[in-house]
Amino acid sequence: MLRVGLAADERGPSVCGCGRPGHAIEEIGVHRRPASADRPTRAFVSGVYRCGSGWLCPTCAPAVATLRQARVQRVVEATTDRGGTFVMGLVTVSHGPTDRLTDLKKLVTESFAAARRGAPWDRLRKRGGIAGVLVAPEVTHGESGWHFHVHFGMPCLADTVAARAAGEALIARFMRAVEKRGGKALRKGQGVEIAASPEAAGEYIAKGTSWELAAGASGHKSRTAGRTPWDIAEAAIANPDDRGSYGLWREFAAVMPGTRSCVVTPGLAAALGLEADEDDEAGGKFDLTDDVALVGTVPAPTWKVILRTGLAGTFLGRIEEAEAIDAPVFASLLATTSAEAEERAQRIADLAEARRVKAERARDAAAAREARARLDLAISRALDRLGDLTRGGADTRDRLARACDDVAAACPDLPRPTPADILSAAQARRPAHLAA
Ligand SMILES: [Zn+2]
Repeated sequence: MLRVGLAADERGPSVCGCGRPGHAIEEIGVHRRPASADRPTRAFVSGVYRCGSGWLCPTCAPAVATLRQARVQRVVEATTDRGGTFVMGLVTVSHGPTDRLTDLKKLVTESFAAARRGAPWDRLRKRGGIAGVLVAPEVTHGESGWHFHVHFGMPCLADTVAARAAGEALIARFMRAVEKRGGKALRKGQGVEIAASPEAAGEYIAKGTSWELAAGASGHKSRTAGRTPWDIAEAAIANPDDRGSYGLWREFAAVMPGTRSCVVTPGLAAALGLEADEDDEAGGKFDLTDDVALVGTVPAPTWKVILRTGLAGTFLGRIEEAEAIDAPVFASLLATTSAEAEERAQRIADLAEARRVKAERARDAAAAREARARLDLAISRALDRLGDLTRGGADTRDRLARACDDVAAACPDLPRPTPADILSAAQARRPAHLAA
């Protein structure tokens, strides 16, 4: 969906290349990790490019979210190890169906940044023992349009009373900053609480990047919060007529990538004795997994066709479902999938060719219509000059030839009519003349 509107040689967002064979890789590896007590059998590939996008990639987002969760948990543990309190919360603004995501993001982000600046904030930091603030933007879409909110985590080297007060004060500052920018933020839209455990905090704060993961850990998915961007993408891809969902997905994809989340800043790291993080939206890398549970390989060109025809998931599903997997079983699964992929690729190519031919015919027809209209115009100009042709006469032939010359001279942009063109047009007009 993100390649729509791009030229054939134009590179789309990096998510569009996720899963492609890496540079100079001749075959990709297929792995199958057997089921264990807490997870089912899982098949995956190695030797492919991974985009690493926590916002756009359904494959990479869960991995990115796991990293972010682990990071938040580390911060919570370091806070409690130092006898501190980890405050978690949520800030957002009032919004409506016509609000653009980019504007809401700007309002919330700028207001929350402003709330954490200046002398009053410095005093608040000291009072609450605030070591820093982790921020995790999250987006859903419902009846009231885009819902952009920021989950935050605030390690406070203070007791719970002082920590909670600091959280409330931060929210009050945020609400004032929103109002100052012409927005509206209701107190009941904001939240603040003390983290029950590092795991709970990790899930709460980092879940914005992967709802599947959040649903997996907490066992349910909130229905009142509206649709997640994944829900929107799924609806748009399932139904090409769902232009609304498609538009929302494109809007989301234009606004959110590159937005950082759960980054441990150098200041926060120093305060808690942790290591600072790299920017986690820095881009993709090649996933060169080693030989762990390798069950077979796929030539890079074959894998590209499987990927392009949307059968990668189907293939890995078959690898997962196989009772046992050895070389013949692998070869047979690959042959089946590859044949389906080739067939689909052929269908896609046929469709594209049919579309191309149809478009060419439409272009030709339009050009012919246009040419005919211009000739008609030239003929009608010539007829205007001739006046009444019905009287006939010996000089008709000369008058026709002269009218053709005159029109060609007066309207050099129009095609030159022939005497025969004019005559047949005049005959077509005649009944009207007679009727008059
Ligand atoms: Zn990816």
